[in-house]
Amino acid sequence: MKKWPLHWKILFGMLLGIGFGITLTQIEGGAQFSSNFIKPFGVIFIKLLKLIAIPLIVASLVKGISDLKNISKFRNIGLRTIITYVITTVVAITIGLTLVNILKPGEGIDQQTVDTLTSTYANDAGVQSKISEAGRQRSSGPLQFIVDMVPDNAIGAMGDNSLMLQVIFFTIFLGISMLLVGEKQAKPLKKLFDSLNSVVLKMVDLIMLTAPFAVFALLTNVVVSSDNPDLLLALLKYALVVVLGLLIMVGFYSLIIALYTKKSPLWFLSKISPAQLLAFSTSSSAATLPVTMERVEEHLGVDKEVSSFVLPVGATINMDGTSLYQAVAAVFIAQALGFDLTFTDQLTIVVTALMASIGSAAVPGAGMVMLVIVLESIGFPADKLAVGLALIFAVDRPLDMCRTVINVTGDAAVSMFVAKSVGKLGAPHAQNWNDHYDEVK
Ligand code: ASP
Repeated sequence: MKKWPLHWKILFGMLLGIGFGITLTQIEGGAQFSSNFIKPFGVIFIKLLKLIAIPLIVASLVKGISDLKNISKFRNIGLRTIITYVITTVVAITIGLTLVNILKPGEGIDQQTVDTLTSTYANDAGVQSKISEAGRQRSSGPLQFIVDMVPDNAIGAMGDNSLMLQVIFFTIFLGISMLLVGEKQAKPLKKLFDSLNSVVLKMVDLIMLTAPFAVFALLTNVVVSSDNPDLLLALLKYALVVVLGLLIMVGFYSLIIALYTKKSPLWFLSKISPAQLLAFSTSSSAATLPVTMERVEEHLGVDKEVSSFVLPVGATINMDGTSLYQAVAAVFIAQALGFDLTFTDQLTIVVTALMASIGSAAVPGAGMVMLVIVLESIGFPADKLAVGLALIFAVDRPLDMCRTVINVTGDAAVSMFVAKSVGKLGAPHAQNWNDHYDEVK
């Protein structure tokens, strides 16, 4: 197994995990066994990745900005990044809307299935928690998201993984101020962050040694805790429409990579694949971020000046897979419950799904919370929200796994695009965990 490339090892771990999970579902007490003895290893792995996310973002963003030498370069990268993110998200939503309107997966659902799904899930704690969480997010004012971006305590912000945008805000502020004090004054701090950055990237390499085992644990747990297969089957057409849309997005990114960066899309996909497989296994682009950063910088050759900004920002605000899913799910629910959507409604979906994907947290299931807001924007009755979500709840986890892959792939593709556009796409320089092991063993 030693000589296998990392993505094959991870894939192998995933397949074994699925097989083992299926076996456990056939054994009495199997689910309990998985939750007691398998799941903890997956949880530890995700914790390890989250543990290094904030130090990595801070170290790499400070290094990225202070390497830039002037602020206008940063403005240039920032502007290109945000504009490209908005464009890719609108493309994703448009693809989702086109497919769901042509293939109409909601019209094939009979009343009996709607009733079964409603009675199974409408009062489920999972569905209810999404609705109340959406209510909490909605009750804030229109500029609240800007207010939320500014921390009142830098250390406090770094102590909470969900405050990533606050950490990014503080770090950009710090990096720009370092440029302004001049090279001589900033040098000691820059050296410290440079060194921290290399050390944390090494931690990523070390954590990734355990990835094949961790994904085994994660997928075993997904399989044993998944829903009734009959219900999954009833939603197959809807799920296939989402997956088809996501695959078209892969084609779209491949086109950008081939036409604009002149690199092979297959090379791009194989280099980024460990991050994609982790995104699939963890359903969280935030947990995957350290690996995405390592792959994009070391294996795709994107300069840190670009990746250190584009990727953490992308993990929080660019969710092409999530926005595509939100568009398909909103129209699917309307179709299944017999609501007619006008052209204006569909345009409203484009705008709200764009905002909703920006507002979705990069954690499992977050896309469904913001879906509530998309549904409300097209006048979906509040008393039917639980029924609407109940319709898609059974397949949410597998679709979450797939859309998270696209969220991560989109961030990586955009970072290559932006890097190329500012002349910062260089040669890959992959590091191994044991590059200096002989010196210290
Ligand atoms: N799980 C997704 C992510 O972390 C968000 C979502 O669509 O629920 O990227």
